[in-house]
Amino acid sequence: MARPDPDALLAELDPEQREAVLAVSGPVAILAGAGSGKTRVLSRRTAYAIATGVVPADQALVVTFTDKAAGEMVERLRSLGLPGVTARTFHAHALSMLRFFWPLRHDGAPLPALLDSKAPILGRLARQLPGHYRFTPAKDLADEIEWAKSRRIEPRAYERAATEAGREPPIPPDLFVRVFEGYERAKARADRMDFDDLLLQTVDLLEDDADAAETVRARKRWFSVDEYQDTSPLQQRLLELWLGASRDLGVVGDEDQTIYSFTGASPAFLTSFADRWPRARVVSLTRNYRSTPEVLELANRLIAADGRSKSLVATRDGGPVPTISRHPSAEHELAALVAWIRARLAEGVAPSEVAVLLRMNAQLAPIEEALTRAGVAYQVRGVRFYDRPEVRAAIQALRRPALDAVGRGLAGAIRARWADAVGYAEDGDAVEGDEARERQASLETLVAIVEEVATADPGAEVATVIADLEARAAHEREGSADGVNLLTYHRAKGLEWDAVFLPSLEEGTLPIRQARDAEDALAEERRLLYVGITRARVHLALSWAERRETRGRESRRQPSRFLLDLRPPRGSTVRQLPAPPVAVPVASGIDGPLFEALRTWRTSRAQADGMPPYVIAHDATLRAIAESRPRTLAALRRVKGMGPQKLDRYGDEILATLDAAPEG
Ligand code: ATP
Ligand code: MG
Repeated sequence: MARPDPDALLAELDPEQREAVLAVSGPVAILAGAGSGKTRVLSRRTAYAIATGVVPADQALVVTFTDKAAGEMVERLRSLGLPGVTARTFHAHALSMLRFFWPLRHDGAPLPALLDSKAPILGRLARQLPGHYRFTPAKDLADEIEWAKSRRIEPRAYERAATEAGREPPIPPDLFVRVFEGYERAKARADRMDFDDLLLQTVDLLEDDADAAETVRARKRWFSVDEYQDTSPLQQRLLELWLGASRDLGVVGDEDQTIYSFTGASPAFLTSFADRWPRARVVSLTRNYRSTPEVLELANRLIAADGRSKSLVATRDGGPVPTISRHPSAEHELAALVAWIRARLAEGVAPSEVAVLLRMNAQLAPIEEALTRAGVAYQVRGVRFYDRPEVRAAIQALRRPALDAVGRGLAGAIRARWADAVGYAEDGDAVEGDEARERQASLETLVAIVEEVATADPGAEVATVIADLEARAAHEREGSADGVNLLTYHRAKGLEWDAVFLPSLEEGTLPIRQARDAEDALAEERRLLYVGITRARVHLALSWAERRETRGRESRRQPSRFLLDLRPPRGSTVRQLPAPPVAVPVASGIDGPLFEALRTWRTSRAQADGMPPYVIAHDATLRAIAESRPRTLAALRRVKGMGPQKLDRYGDEILATLDAAPEG
């Protein structure tokens, strides 16, 4: 294939972008905000360097943050007329080197197999810990090990290094060191390598073996790195070793989008680039091509409230004003979310151009349920809820030993089983640690489902519950490739959609509970929200709910502190966005006086019977009753959620309540 015309590669670039593309050799850093074309410039710059003969296609390497991004980069370059350029993650490139050099240095032995996940080994080690430490999530231990390994800290040096870094391990340091050592031993015994070892071993190889280093450097000598703000010290070291004497390094990033520092990444490599590379060229891109001015205004406020001056400048035409909505309950919020998505689809937005971003995977299940009920196709990107280890373990724990409880007693029996088998905490507020919170939240979501099943069907047995959960899992697995996207903020990095919904912006969710008081952690939560907001091209909705039911009781929720920062500044002349809290019409339209009257009845009935209100009837059932306003027991029987037992017990009272209530 002929080389592409270099001039064509400069089309549709603004002056700064063009400057960056033209700077094809030497150290170059492109620092710019979200949606300013960094990734686009990175691909064009690579193409331009090849097209102008600065580097042969096979000697260039583009480093991306995910395998998916690597695939897209290769596609982009192919479409620019450049097949045969390598784009890979740090790990993938290190792996290709080790595969080659390992046998040469180990008497022909092949590279040990890769450990897919640290979780099985760490789970086993965690279970041997004393007291309640045995429920420490493997993921928390894995993150801490990753942090240490990303700094080349060995177990015996951990305690000191952690103290110096002001790091708080998920369990007491001496216990953690034991786990860390046990993990390394178990891994070695099984002849396995983990992802960190890939980088560590490659670094060792290139540091120790000059011949290997030379061979490697002869193969690739021109490098570009996307999302450079999330580079770990170990990756940085690897990059330096790959470069050797070459100075051809181009990096792009946005320090305000650093969202992986909990595993050891640091934006310092990006921000101090010019200090480490004398005569480096630093280019900043100033215009945003992704989002409407309305969306950017919100992003800018979030950054400004943090005392930073950077702001994103729109190039697109104006669009709809983003909404920030307060809802009286989680159910209202879900109803509004579904209505919002439907409205976008009705306007012609493709389902695959809609995304709902979540802080925790536990938020997935209720949203999936609401979308399924509404007949809206979706796909979960990343780890699905029912594939999460604690969710699978919880379902598994229901199978054996047999559980005899039925109906009302069933939920209690299942909670007890989960407390025992998978560390479910009856008092979830006491759970500490990021991953432990996620885990507890997943289990709470499951408990809510179990309670729903048990209340709807008084004859429900454990098999009924298992069948229900299995059906949900199967539905989730099917997904729909062109459906609405459900994914975490962490996965949303670098991506963009026409319409983005950010639900549950509450204290304890975003910022996640653990981050409440730690300044660094809070700053990272703010950056997550910044990443979330800047994914939207046109439509953006943010929301939170005042009440949520967890563990069978309603808890009051506070709006995320970051929502306050999104309010228009005093005396500002810019177009005003509605300040939170604002009730969204969908929500306020539903709950009239009838619903309130039914709730009041439920409260007194629950008090009289000494049981939690949800056991009497769910909000959804009361709402359905308020909407259909039945006048007879037969009509009431047709309302979803009103089984024969409920009808028998409460039917007359409900009809009397409806009779006495004012017109809706
Ligand atoms: P992020 O920080 O989120 O990774 P980014 O800076 O990498 O964002 P890109 O994804 O490269 O931004 O670009 C954002 C959007 O703007 C893309 O849809 C891209 O095609 C478009 N875009 C970038 N530059 C231009 C331009 N000069 N003209 C038209 N569209 C552009
Ligand atoms: Mg990008």
